[in-house]
Amino acid sequence: MDKYTPRNILVTGGAGFIGSHFVRQLLQTADNLFIVNLDALTYAGSIKNIADLISYPNHRFVKGNIIDRAIITEIFMHHSIDTVVHFAAESHVDRSINEPGQFIQTNIVGTFTLLDVAREVWRQRYALDPTQCRFHHISTDEVFGSLDKLEAPFTETSHYEPNSPYSASKASSDLLVRAYTKTYNLPCTLSNCSNNFGPYQHDEKFIPTTISACLNQFPIPVYGDGSNIRDWLYVEEHCQAILQILHHGKVGDTYNIGGNYEISNIDLAKLICTIMDTIYPTLNPHAELITFVKDRAGHDWRYAISIDKIQNELGWSPSADFQANLLKTIQWYLQLARAETSTVSI
Ligand code: NAD
Repeated sequence: MDKYTPRNILVTGGAGFIGSHFVRQLLQTADNLFIVNLDALTYAGSIKNIADLISYPNHRFVKGNIIDRAIITEIFMHHSIDTVVHFAAESHVDRSINEPGQFIQTNIVGTFTLLDVAREVWRQRYALDPTQCRFHHISTDEVFGSLDKLEAPFTETSHYEPNSPYSASKASSDLLVRAYTKTYNLPCTLSNCSNNFGPYQHDEKFIPTTISACLNQFPIPVYGDGSNIRDWLYVEEHCQAILQILHHGKVGDTYNIGGNYEISNIDLAKLICTIMDTIYPTLNPHAELITFVKDRAGHDWRYAISIDKIQNELGWSPSADFQANLLKTIQWYLQLARAETSTVSI
């Protein structure tokens, strides 16, 4: 396996959920690396997610938008950026159904802007030599559409069949990455990952919503009959997989990443409730809060992803510890809620 070594890395969306974990992991594991963390701090991003990282001398946070070509160019020039790891995106399917315009801007135009600046600067500086520069794009399994119960999991060669404005915008960005590799020889890699969970995820997503409903004794909203199935991966393991691709991935290739842990939404909600019954007991079982709500328009029924390629070629595998990671996640949210309550009462 060839080894690529980043030196000056631009992480986009590094104040969001997955991006903040990735920056933390980089700072804790990599030497001789300078990180510029560019984030627009939309409703989904927060400086609080990276409060513990701001003082690292090799980490610079920049508030800015990925569709702003001038800022991107300035960062590339000023910090001699040789590597991009691109997380920044509008990421919530429900919002994409209600207001798709921002998804087109950030996910498509923003990705185009980054690719185009990288092409221009790296052509002059490195003649696009893949040993000198690299662009890794983070995407989702949702670009592949929906599976039936008995269908085989998505592979890297599955057709793109996105069903929501979110997944269509991510699919478009993936195709731009492909086109920049094929047309301009921009050295890119791409990964499509299943659902992530862990600390720092925004409240609007399923697991934080469920935990927060349990803590506040609110209804736990479950779409339709709750039978929709997702594959789940602990966020830190996703970040490890990305690092593996960045260092050892083949330029021009895509890699699927997943947790090998499929579970229906209703079973996941019940599992969280059972854990909450143990660590945060209330008068009635938390599962009594589960409330079925009108299904999401175009709701994909099942996602499942084959990770054979990344396992066989790069030696990455998820841990078999879904329940332990879920417990860790719930405990983190519980601690956060307690800290916030104690701050308010002071
Ligand atoms: P997130 O919504 O938590 O974070 C996105 C971050 O991007 C935020 O900090 C936000 O402020 C920033 N951002 C948004 N628009 C921007 C813009 N125009 N310019 C600069 N910054 C901007 O999302 P996440 O869950 O951390 O997802 C990160 C990436 O991973 C996304 O590309 C998403 O499609 C992909 N992904 C997520 C999951 C998941 O389960 N969360 C699974 C697979 C892939």
